[in-house]
Amino acid sequence: MRFVTAAVLAGVMCAASATAAATYVRAGRLVDVVAGTVLADQLITIDKGRIVSIAPYSTAPTDGAVTDWSRYMVLPGLIDMHVHLADYETSNNVAEPLLHSAAETVLVGALNARKTLNAGFTTVHNVGNYRAYIDIALRDAINAGTVAGPRMNTVGAYLTAPGGGGEVTGLAPDVVVPADMRVGVVTDANDMGIKARNLFQHGADSLKFIATGAVLAIGAEPGQLELTEAEMRAGVAEAVRANSYATAHAHGAEGVKAAIRSVVRSVEHASLIDDEGIALAKAKGVWLVMDIYDGDYIEAVGTRDGWPADYLRKNRETTDIQRMQFTKAVRAGVRMAYGTDAGVYPHGDNAKQFAYMVRYGMTPMAAIQSATVNAAAAPSVGGIWPRQSLSKVVLPTPKPPATTIFTGIGPAAAFRSSRRCMRGNKGSRGGDRPPRLRSGGRGRCYCTWMYSGTGHRRKIASRVVGGLSFFAFVNCFQPVNWTGSRLMSR
Ligand SMILES: [Zn+2]
Repeated sequence: MRFVTAAVLAGVMCAASATAAATYVRAGRLVDVVAGTVLADQLITIDKGRIVSIAPYSTAPTDGAVTDWSRYMVLPGLIDMHVHLADYETSNNVAEPLLHSAAETVLVGALNARKTLNAGFTTVHNVGNYRAYIDIALRDAINAGTVAGPRMNTVGAYLTAPGGGGEVTGLAPDVVVPADMRVGVVTDANDMGIKARNLFQHGADSLKFIATGAVLAIGAEPGQLELTEAEMRAGVAEAVRANSYATAHAHGAEGVKAAIRSVVRSVEHASLIDDEGIALAKAKGVWLVMDIYDGDYIEAVGTRDGWPADYLRKNRETTDIQRMQFTKAVRAGVRMAYGTDAGVYPHGDNAKQFAYMVRYGMTPMAAIQSATVNAAAAPSVGGIWPRQSLSKVVLPTPKPPATTIFTGIGPAAAFRSSRRCMRGNKGSRGGDRPPRLRSGGRGRCYCTWMYSGTGHRRKIASRVVGGLSFFAFVNCFQPVNWTGSRLMSR
């Protein structure tokens, strides 16, 4: 019911009485991510591809098909606020982006988008790519239905200092980097205004600053400030003019604070955030998007594959402290949104971070909320995403309804996606068949099953109900017992 109430407030509710037959889903349990509770035996009513009501189940409706998910738990689609779909994944070659044309890269982006969607992440904040604008092309293709993928909020290019964390670095000094990889390079505040305006003119939804050095870049340190507060303020001014906002990559404590003072909406990484920064983020209502999973991946795979020693050193210098500061920020009550930096690690593994967030201090429900209701709120402007008209947010044609299920998982269970299980389930199709339980790698794997009453499973589109996105997706999760989960000792 809360979802419906929220929908009314957002002004996006569909007419409750349908001319076409409604579709129903009976949910054995439903995670109400707004209230942070789990409801038992609910009836979800879907009309023209959108959820119009959720109410306790009483008797079976007779005016439409009822999908029986009474044995399952239903959850909104997940949101990852920090991904890089439109690039090749990080490798041991610092020149990797130069090995691929823009066309090749965006095609890989399409594959990454599908992997992300199939992993249950139905909305993403795509916070940058080396080749400018190709994220926008990918977003538009997804919106047009020609490519399967999550709903994307794009930034067009990194706004970065010359040689900064948003540039391809580590090359010989006489190598000329293509112009489309330097579209967001800014030299001063005035230049920032010009470049930011250009990105919005070409379809970016929001802005991404590289405020400090990056871990996975040569020649800069995460603690170093790369953009000045004045430069970021100039970018934020352009974002405000475009009815949008900016987010800042910032590892170092000074960079985090400079970004917050320049009025960004969110800070990415925040690895070395200090107590003052935590207090400032809380006071200003700035969201922290802390990618506390990928340090382990970089250490394991980077060491195995011979990633640059600089990458590995900086990763070791930021991983543990970021997790410690994450715990502090959670305890301080800072607004936290789920973001993983997918692309550093393989796309589709986005859910692995849930377990880390719980291990480092969040309740399981808070972790779910960080990837649903909170992630939906973080970038919104007046209840809708920036630069998108209501008609764009609410798709006009009926689409597969907006429900995600998985089995055997309570909110007290962890999320651990199982690629093996997903492959095992590859041949399954939507429809009214119940999911088959398959044996996964470690213990029993429960495959989710998506509802596709009106279309092929790849024709998946977002629904926004009161700032919550509901989606269908296919995914597998393994239940994990939280007992014994280590909380940070301090
Ligand atoms: Zn990133």
